[in-house]
Amino acid sequence: DEWPIGDEKTWKTALKDLEFDHEDEQEVANTVVRHVTTSLARQAYNMDAIAAYQATALSVRDRLLERWNETALHHTKKAPKRVYYLSIEWLIGRSLDNAVLNLGMRNTYEGATQKLGFNFEDLLNEERDAGLGNGGLGRLAACYIDSMATLNIPGWGYGLRYNYGIFKQLISNSGEQLEAPDPWLDRENPWEIGRLDVAYPIRFYGRVESVPNSDKAVWTGGMECLAVAYDTPIPGFATKNCANIRLWSAKPVQGFDLNSFNAGNYEASVAASSEVENITRVLYPNDNMYAGKKLRIMQQYLWVSASLQDILRRFTKLDVPWSALPDYVCIQMNDTHPTLAIPELMRILIDEEELSYEDAWKITTKVFAYTNHTVLPEALERWQIDLFESLLPRHLQIIYRINYDFMQAVAKRWPGDMDRMRRMSIIEEGTPKYVRMAYLAIVGSFKVNGVAELHSQLLQATIFKDFVEFKGRDFFTNVTNGITPRRWLLQCNPQLAALITHTLGNDHWLTHLTALKQLLPMAEREEFRKAFTSIKLENKQRLADLVEAELGVTLDIESIFMTQIKRLHEYKRQTLNLFAVIYRYLRIKKASPEERKKITKHTSIFAGKAAPGYYVAKLVIRLINNVAKVVNNDPDVEDLLKVVFIPDYSVSIAEVLVPASDVSVQISTAGTEASGTSNMKLALNGALLLGTVDGANVEIAEDAGEDQSFLFGHLTEQVEGVRFTNSYQPTPLEQRSSELAEVFKAVESGTFGEGSTYDSLLKTVYEHDYYLVSNDFGSYLAAEKLMDETYDNNRTEWTKKSIVTAFNMGDFSSDRSVQDYADGIWSVEPCEVPGNL
Ligand code: PLP
Repeated sequence: DEWPIGDEKTWKTALKDLEFDHEDEQEVANTVVRHVTTSLARQAYNMDAIAAYQATALSVRDRLLERWNETALHHTKKAPKRVYYLSIEWLIGRSLDNAVLNLGMRNTYEGATQKLGFNFEDLLNEERDAGLGNGGLGRLAACYIDSMATLNIPGWGYGLRYNYGIFKQLISNSGEQLEAPDPWLDRENPWEIGRLDVAYPIRFYGRVESVPNSDKAVWTGGMECLAVAYDTPIPGFATKNCANIRLWSAKPVQGFDLNSFNAGNYEASVAASSEVENITRVLYPNDNMYAGKKLRIMQQYLWVSASLQDILRRFTKLDVPWSALPDYVCIQMNDTHPTLAIPELMRILIDEEELSYEDAWKITTKVFAYTNHTVLPEALERWQIDLFESLLPRHLQIIYRINYDFMQAVAKRWPGDMDRMRRMSIIEEGTPKYVRMAYLAIVGSFKVNGVAELHSQLLQATIFKDFVEFKGRDFFTNVTNGITPRRWLLQCNPQLAALITHTLGNDHWLTHLTALKQLLPMAEREEFRKAFTSIKLENKQRLADLVEAELGVTLDIESIFMTQIKRLHEYKRQTLNLFAVIYRYLRIKKASPEERKKITKHTSIFAGKAAPGYYVAKLVIRLINNVAKVVNNDPDVEDLLKVVFIPDYSVSIAEVLVPASDVSVQISTAGTEASGTSNMKLALNGALLLGTVDGANVEIAEDAGEDQSFLFGHLTEQVEGVRFTNSYQPTPLEQRSSELAEVFKAVESGTFGEGSTYDSLLKTVYEHDYYLVSNDFGSYLAAEKLMDETYDNNRTEWTKKSIVTAFNMGDFSSDRSVQDYADGIWSVEPCEVPGNL
């Protein structure tokens, strides 16, 4: 509590001057203008919207950093157990609106920028998305850090600072996806603080020498580089606590190779440094698909090694023995991408801290917990041994030792059961051999969870069955995913949020989302339904304006807005939706004037990116766009059907689509979607679920209440049998679904452009139909029919369902998920920064 240097009074006065204290609009405007002239070096009268956005963001950042510093100081003093969330993706989106809302300063900033001559909404649109993720997994991490900050749980996120985030999706004239880079850092990023002094050495390749009579080894040579920290402060809602996402960037140890430089080879001397910088150059654009690339494993190692060095540096300041590590540190692994952290912690403890192998293992296995996100075999990470060995020779040794001990334990439980040992081994035998990362994650963790009830059960019954027998049931648990109601209701649907706050009389629901249940009786009040409906229509109009401006297509906001917004993937079955759209189009074309009157008006909205190398997924995008072109320009269709594909799906676009949707299309083949999170966002904003019995759809439909959702399709336990029949006793498509056969004929005959273009897409259904598109087509059409009838026959009933669905979604707040993790896995307590807000 003493001032280490200088004059106490001067220090205290200076710090007092820095404090922000319920500033009014003028005071906020002052700070914005100061940033324009100083941080941006601009003359005030030469301020455009970009400068105004940047200065406003810097002004907000100052306030975040005040909280960030207070939080750091408080946590250093209290030394609570901390949780570290390791995620290779952070799909944050924009930060300005979220930050001012969480600070409770939205109105002040809106007023201040208004007085400076700017529309706050326009400034918000100047911000580029931080798109450091592919989809659900990365967005989940972003929701969880928001909830950790809000719940005052001492925790940080760790990830990678990619120079290029998820690619920008363009659509060509022929309807195809084109990919362009996303240089999101080209304009300065006002939300990050580069900590060039926080840098850790990272080694690749090299050789290992063992040290006689010890577990220790010395790893030398190879290539060394640095991981440099960049911090993004994440404010909690209505609390002083501010969390942090620390992202690592690869930097060369030396700017150039002195030997080449002295030999007069200037170019070669710089070349090596750009090789290092390539490590964090770009996000891998695959979702639920493992690719096995060398640069990717280098990303993973740089990230986990730097994060662990950082975590351990903080821990060693506590001056307690290593055995206390699990009392102070819990590391949550978001999927298997950070699994290298397990052998890395072992390496540090054994080789650098000189613990015995046994002591290091005891500590390590009390620190890590692993979240599984998929049962799809093509998504499970397995690294080729020879690649692994050349890059990380010491880690492979450690993994062999872990596996040796593990196999001994299995052999002891099931003597002579060689098949079981082969199945469970962390090393997959064969040519080549592989390291199975999920198994390493299980063996090195104290808890493993799935992300929705159905998924957690499925994990235990299928890919991890042997491990349930070995570890026991309690080792596995479920934490159903969640979404932050701050971004996904307050921010994206401010009118509905205001109606809720007004009706409840307070905004307590924003941190206690189950309070929405109190509003269920409102579904019976006509006045409330009117207000609710008019908000939905306003949101639909906002989307219609965007579609008109971007695509030149006019939407009818009285039609049902059906949205399927997510990665393009065969298992997510955009095809099922699209083929039903085509079927509807063919019906419209054939309908008599009388029949046309009975057809419900639909607007089918698609958005999502396909992995650049995923040919079939890209064909689906092409077909959607060409169907849209034909349908939207066919005068026979009138206003009965519109189809739109909104390019370059992102968090910001989701924020427009989610509140504007009437129906949430969630139609993965049963047993394939682990959870889904767009299903939760859409339901919270009043969209009715049209879905399969899969992932979190099950819990959403259950919570929404009986008869609120439109469920269809084969169930998980039926899928395997149908698949078998499709593969080994195939029947012609005509017999599986005559409606679908009609659709395929239309595609093949060139209704939507050259038919043969889509041959390989249609073939996936004709042959094998692994995802049961033909088998579920009939029941999908039936579910749509029921949905149409509900919409057309009784709009009041529809609105009631929409209200009841939204207000029953309280359990899907990420606050609930994070509390589940804190209680059931992390064993961490809140540590709130004291003082008034
Ligand atoms: N992509 C973006 C931009 C999102 O906001 C979300 C979350 O809803 C997802 C992908 C995940 O969507 P889904 O759960 O439908 O796969």
